[in-house]
Amino acid sequence: MNTMDLQHRKEVLPALTPQNDPWDPIRSMQKFGRHKLTSVEMTVSNLCNMRCEHCAVGDTLVMAEPAKIPLELMIKRLDEVEHLETISITGGEPSFSDKTVKEYMVPLLQYARSRGIRSQINSNVTLPYSRYEQLAPYLDVMHISFNYTNADDFHQIGFAKAGHSVPREAAVRMYDRMIDNTRKLVDAGVLVSAESMINYRTHDKIDEIHRLIMDMGCQRHEVHPMYPSSFAKDLPAITRLEMRRSIEKLLDTRDPSVWMLFGTLPFYHCSDDAEERALLKRLSAEPNVTVRNDPDGRNRLNVNLFTGEVFVTDFSDVPAFGNIGGEKLDDLFDRWLDHELAKSVNCHCPAASCCGPNLLVKDMYYNEIDFHQRRAVL
Ligand code: SF4
Repeated sequence: MNTMDLQHRKEVLPALTPQNDPWDPIRSMQKFGRHKLTSVEMTVSNLCNMRCEHCAVGDTLVMAEPAKIPLELMIKRLDEVEHLETISITGGEPSFSDKTVKEYMVPLLQYARSRGIRSQINSNVTLPYSRYEQLAPYLDVMHISFNYTNADDFHQIGFAKAGHSVPREAAVRMYDRMIDNTRKLVDAGVLVSAESMINYRTHDKIDEIHRLIMDMGCQRHEVHPMYPSSFAKDLPAITRLEMRRSIEKLLDTRDPSVWMLFGTLPFYHCSDDAEERALLKRLSAEPNVTVRNDPDGRNRLNVNLFTGEVFVTDFSDVPAFGNIGGEKLDDLFDRWLDHELAKSVNCHCPAASCCGPNLLVKDMYYNEIDFHQRRAVL
């Protein structure tokens, strides 16, 4: 297919909306009555021009990286995934190297578009727009991080782990470019989804952050609580009550015309806490608000493009459980579903459209709980 055909293809696919989020694993659960692999995430870079305080993969970042596995092998493995609906491309900063953009990212996006599969890139969008311009014609969702109320926040948070001081002027230039690139991507027809984390820095100014995201023209604001991953484990944690208050503040002040997507929340319809259940009820009644079930290990696997190893997420402590060099992704996914860890969180309450807690969340807040003994209270 040529570029025109690929662009036209997007127009005939159903729009991504609060009613149509193919990344949510509840869809395949409802369709097949069990988890199915419908989503593949690929880590294409361990390089990054930033060193964020909260980065989930910060301890894997390097200054130079090895060769990648052949693109043809990756595409062959994607082609074999029978029910593939989405791909995601992540890093590091996936577009850090222009060679990776040209030789891996553009062909992967073109493959996805030609098969009618939706695509997402996770990027800080602080590099020259020429990188993103090459991707925009074939890309559905550009996922960015936005946890700031001004350039000074960005300077402080974005280089917290740099190991040397970064001049304020350099950070301000990157901040301005990020905003400019976001606007250009929105104008180019890409759905820009800005993710904010609720953490010790952001929980009491999440409304202000939301306003700036709306000012940039983003079509979606994604909100996740921050959980301690290995690189960010020294950051102060906030309580579930502070998290709940922050979400309530956001719901009270948000722009109701824009899609808000919440994910990896530590609240479930089976909770003993009536206030937490009430918040979930409010979230499901609010217009343009969705709560996405966690895709990791439910409908998605992560492939490391340097080694071919397959993980349950890009940042998990769970070791690789296979390699695309010798096995099909659907077979690896079935093997993962048999893993004790997968079984520990594979509860499902159809009435609540819930398919269980995220592994990190269970570990942090519900270590002793057997979710198979619980039921949604609606
Ligand atoms: S699916 Fe699991 S986590 Fe969700 S409400 Fe039911 S028991 Fe709770």
